[in-house]
Amino acid sequence: MEIKKKDIRALTKEQLREFFEKNGDKAFRGNQVYEWLWQKGAHKFEDMTNVSKETRQMLENNFVINHIKVDQMQRSSDGTIKNAVRLHDDLIVESVLIPTKTRTTACVSSQVGCSLDCKFCATARLKRMRNLNPDEIYDQVVAIDNESRLYHNRPLSNIVFMGMGEPLMNYNNVIKAIDKITSPEGLGMSPKRIVVSTSGVPKMIKKMADDDVKFKLAVSLHSAIDEVRTSIMPFNATFPLNDLREALQYWYAKTKNRITYEYVVWDGINDKRKDVDALVEFCKFAPSKVNIIEYNPIDDGEFQQAQSKAIDMYVEVLESNHITVTVRRSRGKDIDAACGQLANKS
Ligand code: SAH
Repeated sequence: MEIKKKDIRALTKEQLREFFEKNGDKAFRGNQVYEWLWQKGAHKFEDMTNVSKETRQMLENNFVINHIKVDQMQRSSDGTIKNAVRLHDDLIVESVLIPTKTRTTACVSSQVGCSLDCKFCATARLKRMRNLNPDEIYDQVVAIDNESRLYHNRPLSNIVFMGMGEPLMNYNNVIKAIDKITSPEGLGMSPKRIVVSTSGVPKMIKKMADDDVKFKLAVSLHSAIDEVRTSIMPFNATFPLNDLREALQYWYAKTKNRITYEYVVWDGINDKRKDVDALVEFCKFAPSKVNIIEYNPIDDGEFQQAQSKAIDMYVEVLESNHITVTVRRSRGKDIDAACGQLANKS
């Protein structure tokens, strides 16, 4: 019977050092191998040229190196690139490179499919689900960093966890991936350039605050009225707005970080004055910023982007209440790379 070998990149540096010690070698060997895996991006044990042949064989007998593979890369007319990424078990996730004049942002996935059930999101319709491992998240970032250097002549500058999945439902692995991305032994990126976007899992928002994380938080709110929010994001029945607000209050008290909300305005759903008033009320407890994002159609017309006069009303009312508001245009729509469109279609 073949023994299932462990993914060596699931081990911390300390665990690798212990492995070598237990196997009669020096702990230092663990550092060397770790460097090959993370700084030099080795795909095979035989690439580790300063490690003896016997040690490489020993590693081969015990472990595998799982790497993602960019199966297909699509380029949009606006410079956006979408990667279909094949995982070691042949499942696929998508990640996106979004260039602007001054930045290159990677939008990465945290799960295959999603644990939640937002009615307006294409990813929610995918049946299959598993959490991504830290190295699978990290590899998506490295792939986009390489593409950014190749096609835009600059390194990646920002990361948003707005691809497939709910990052706070895969918290431990997301945290491990961010540790690696920000560590000098990984990509050395500043955590301030990373945004984790959540549909709002109150318990995990409090945990993030307790863990004193340094990255930024964005909350996909879409409505500050329970009834409306539950109709478009059914899990809101389990995590109602009061619990979400309480968790965000806790987050703000600990971090003093302004809270960013993502918000789509839909025709006939949340485009009335009472919807804006509820949003203003919800935002009151902490300095807030509302990003109004364009709706990217995924279906047969159940949801429609609101009229521009509804968006203008949101902007006016929010601004008059001293809440920062931006209206963002979608990128990469022609290749189904925009928010909520990631569904492994091609
Ligand atoms: N689960 C996380 C991150 C993934 S979704 C979250 O909910 O925040 C990233 C963002 O895209 C969220 O703000 C989500 O509400 C938004 N989104 C989902 N479907 C969309 C669509 N069809 N058009 C525009 N935005 C969408």
